[in-house]
Amino acid sequence: MTKSLQNPVFGRLALIGIGLIGSSIARVARARNLAGQIAIYSRSAETIARAQDLQLGDLYSTDPAEAVRDADCIIICVPVGASTQIAKAIAPHLKPGAIVSDVGSVKRAVIEQIQPHLPDNVHFIPAHPVAGTEKSGPDAGFETLFDNRWCILTPLPETDQQAIETLSRFWSGCGAHMEQMDADHHDLVLAITSHLPHLIAYNIVGTANDLETVTQSEVMKYSAGGFRDFTRLAASDPTMWRDVCLHNKDALLEMLARFSEDLSALQRAIRWSKGDELFDLFTHTRGIRRAIIDAGQEVDLPDFGRQGSSPASEDKRDTLK
Ligand code: NAP
Repeated sequence: MTKSLQNPVFGRLALIGIGLIGSSIARVARARNLAGQIAIYSRSAETIARAQDLQLGDLYSTDPAEAVRDADCIIICVPVGASTQIAKAIAPHLKPGAIVSDVGSVKRAVIEQIQPHLPDNVHFIPAHPVAGTEKSGPDAGFETLFDNRWCILTPLPETDQQAIETLSRFWSGCGAHMEQMDADHHDLVLAITSHLPHLIAYNIVGTANDLETVTQSEVMKYSAGGFRDFTRLAASDPTMWRDVCLHNKDALLEMLARFSEDLSALQRAIRWSKGDELFDLFTHTRGIRRAIIDAGQEVDLPDFGRQGSSPASEDKRDTLK
């Protein structure tokens, strides 16, 4: 776990949205002294009241303009489809020199939604912490969510280097490893590593639900045969994933086309009993999982670490998003 800093990176941090990601940032920022003060915005009075009960910050508001006042860094943590509306609401109230960032799972669409509304005297640095769970809301966050996970920055060519370094210091303090890439490349990479797997999970769970020859109780009873692992992804927040699909359309459609072609090849291999083809692919993919474990991005435990794990620890086992 990353140690607490002697001096905070930001005097005042504003979190616009306090769900899983925003509340995890609040918790780690507080625990590791990354921000002197934390101002929190959420759209609903209920969520703001819950954030206050959980003591996630110092200032609470349902008005984004009020939450960003005097903030040195503003991190937008709402579903990507809400980015334009938030950017418009905060733009006139930003402190000159402030860093404006986000955590959206897609980057090009978020840049297009936010950047045109921001004044020239702030530094806009899009970001995506590649860490999460299928849970939502301020209760779902936890301090260690970003430990040993990657945080990808997709700065624009003209972005101030000093501001990039400051934001990187903040995310490193949260425990993340830092990477920079072009926004379009980010969207392509995440389409295959995150967006397509979620779409497949939503689809397979939907298909099982529609089957007439297999009963619902059989689906539940025998879910440990593999289905259960898909249901975890398919339980992810519908608003967030609707927005991801609609805002990373091109990359996702390209990956879907590739996936469908490869699935057809597998279908043919099964039809013509090409056991060698199946065996070779399955051997290769087993090696890919090994590499993910070696890279520290998954646990090398049977049954994905479920055996013997408490429900609480299983709940908090993170997935890539
Ligand atoms: P979440 O737990 O559902 O929280 C969403 C927050 O945004 C809440 O404060 C909610 O306010 C607010 N919100 C929702 N719709 C809004 C709207 N139309 N206008 C203004 N505020 C709105 O979401 P999350 O999982 O933290 O995701 C937040 C962002 O992080 C998304 O852009 C997502 O792509 C990205 N991300 C998510 C994950 C993940 O695993 N979940 C991982 C990496 C990045 P109320 O509760 O008051 O309505």
